[in-house]
Amino acid sequence: MEKLSRDMKFCHACLKEHEVDTVAVTEETIFRGKPVSFQAVYDYCSNLDQLLETEELIKINQLSLIDAYRKEVNLLTSDEIRRIREKYGVSQKDFSEILNWGEVTIIRYENHQIQDQAHDEVMRKIGTDTQWFKELLVSARERLSEKRFKKYLDIVLQQMALNKSSYIESFMEASISKYDGTEYNGGTSLQLPLVVDMINYLAKKVDNLFEVKLMKLLFYADFYHYKMAGKGISGLVYMALPMGAAPDNYRCLLDLENVNFIEKQEADFISRRFVPTANYQSSLLSDFHKLILDRVIEAFKDKKTDEIVISMHNEDAYKNTSFKEPISYNYAKTLSID
Ligand SMILES: [Zn+2]
Repeated sequence: MEKLSRDMKFCHACLKEHEVDTVAVTEETIFRGKPVSFQAVYDYCSNLDQLLETEELIKINQLSLIDAYRKEVNLLTSDEIRRIREKYGVSQKDFSEILNWGEVTIIRYENHQIQDQAHDEVMRKIGTDTQWFKELLVSARERLSEKRFKKYLDIVLQQMALNKSSYIESFMEASISKYDGTEYNGGTSLQLPLVVDMINYLAKKVDNLFEVKLMKLLFYADFYHYKMAGKGISGLVYMALPMGAAPDNYRCLLDLENVNFIEKQEADFISRRFVPTANYQSSLLSDFHKLILDRVIEAFKDKKTDEIVISMHNEDAYKNTSFKEPISYNYAKTLSID
């Protein structure tokens, strides 16, 4: 018997007001033919040495029993069902609507009614497959108010962006890890949140920050920082590409959360102009990082993309690195900025 709390209250066992402990007791029982063990909660009357189950506790204990049984037979517990629903911010009634189940089905499943296997599998899949939930949501559009449909769709899209972002982060971290401890990562491991801060900082201060220019400015910031402080800022590895240096897998950076740009279809390509994310505060950049970034911005902000590409092509870092190979940070010492 484990004590959970103690309160002064009217005791329904001895019919006096006194300090009553609420206690947890492990109980074993057979439910639907399965032996289950669960935590039951009681009030304990010390005057009569007696456990007491109020109406509220009866409900709680029944749900504990049912959830213990659900666990035993590998069904989602009531809490797990609620968490899946709340992940999408959907009400119980609307969750039933989206699934095209009876109106009160979800309310019941989050309480005492044990879900059948097929429904359990559907809810489980929704918990992990946001894309699939989006399809269900879209096909239920007619059955929901327009306002709530839009609200749920927004949440789903945010979830998808988050999933994508975390997938990309893992991918970049894994693919860059082969450069750990080499001259190619600037003596620091990849820190994507810092990269996102750098991009927003640059986007705030540089007008017309197009893709090629951004990649060059990141390179200059990392290499200039290395020149001044003996290590890079971001941990990015830069490759020698035709237009100059660019981070390895640089296209992945475009998909990171809080990296914002405006796409425009040009004659034969799509241009991307980077803009700061609204209400985004760079919080990871130190004053020294900002000093370095400001110096790079000062040097290049008024230069056109092709002018920066020319500067880049004149850097030892670029000239001495084979095409599509990583650039050694050792070349930072002859970088043109100082
Ligand atoms: Zn009592």
